[in-house]
Amino acid sequence: MIFISILSYNKSILEKYDHFLILTKEAEMKENSVLATIYENICRDTGKQNESAKLIAVVRLLTLSMLLHSLVCCVLVSITRHTGALAFSLFSPVLFLAVFVLSYRWSTFVSYCILNVCILFWSCMNVYCFGWNIGIQHFLVVLLVFVFFCKYRHEPVKILYAAFLFALRLFLFYYCRSHEPSIVLDDGLINTLQTVNTFFIFLSLGLVAYLFSSTTQEMEGKLIEYNRKLMKQANTDTLTGLFNRRRTMEYLENLLRAAETQISICLCDIDHFKRVNDTYGHDVGDVVLKKISETFQKRLPPDTFVSRWGGEEFLLIFPRLNGDEAITALETLRQKIREITFDGGFENFTVSLTYGLVEYDYHSDITTLLKEADEKLYVGKEGGRDRIVF
Ligand code: GH3
Ligand code: MG
Ligand code: MG
Repeated sequence: MIFISILSYNKSILEKYDHFLILTKEAEMKENSVLATIYENICRDTGKQNESAKLIAVVRLLTLSMLLHSLVCCVLVSITRHTGALAFSLFSPVLFLAVFVLSYRWSTFVSYCILNVCILFWSCMNVYCFGWNIGIQHFLVVLLVFVFFCKYRHEPVKILYAAFLFALRLFLFYYCRSHEPSIVLDDGLINTLQTVNTFFIFLSLGLVAYLFSSTTQEMEGKLIEYNRKLMKQANTDTLTGLFNRRRTMEYLENLLRAAETQISICLCDIDHFKRVNDTYGHDVGDVVLKKISETFQKRLPPDTFVSRWGGEEFLLIFPRLNGDEAITALETLRQKIREITFDGGFENFTVSLTYGLVEYDYHSDITTLLKEADEKLYVGKEGGRDRIVF
């Protein structure tokens, strides 16, 4: 049950987290208004509330990177006055500018698909026109990484797409082996374009990997923290902060299973606690419960497992003490508790507890041990309270 609730809690955290990260980034960028404006525009969502703001931001940034790349290529080919190459290159900035502008009209999914198709088409056209040596085909690797990082969970489609990219790359390679490029560039321009392309491929890969992996890592860190908190909540009593009954049973089962040393178990109960509530009020009763819990933690040996067994009953487990040693520890505790004065509003008062102690005999089961401790506690109550019965 607890794990199911942890899972569903995590799921809702995951769903909200994308948006949360964007908000955090926005806050960080508030100081720099120019950056903030650019960032706001890049992250402006598509109107569909349940779509990932992170994904559309990556789509737009990648499109901008492609646009910048196309512009650099245009400048380069115009410097070399290669008219054929320039005519072809002019088409690329227009294509990516259109994708960027239209991404504000389309849904995230459509923008993401269209960008993929555009990069595919553009890469094939470049390889067909300029050949293998300018290195455009490596943009297919960017697409491969992009598709696996994106949030859509259609695994079979992703695998098929990866296979398609692999086949396409091989096809382009063998095509280039047997065909001359339709636009022949000189060696100098090939080398420059190869350098520019390598730079933009690394930039795009870095961009996609950084933006998505940073989200995942931050998300993972948050989830670990939430899980830790949830586990703590599941194991502790909210009023006293002590271990609860569920955790105590788990601890006892493990302890008795691997018992190598003597173990003592003590069930204790506040005397006439109902009277405390009735006389001074329930809130004062709560203060007493908290103070007594603190005293257990302070005054008992450090390895004592202290739990709130229910209402005003506590179970103390001494994992390395025999009965006699436990009595000594309990006697000190009993006296310390007797010395505490509580403020009841109109008067101060003190409380006592009665303790039923048993020593583990290496073969009894948990139920028998607890029953025995409860019987001893009952004997203590009958005998006048404020005592340890062993
Ligand atoms: P005895 O000495 O025989 O143990 O008498 P008692 O009055 O302590 O025992 P009883 O079982 O009659 O009463 C227990 C009281 O503990 C009743 C209940 O209201 C109170 N109690 C249980 N849990 C809490 C709690 O979380 N806060 C407060 N303030 N009171 C609690
Ligand atoms: Mg009581
Ligand atoms: Mg009781």
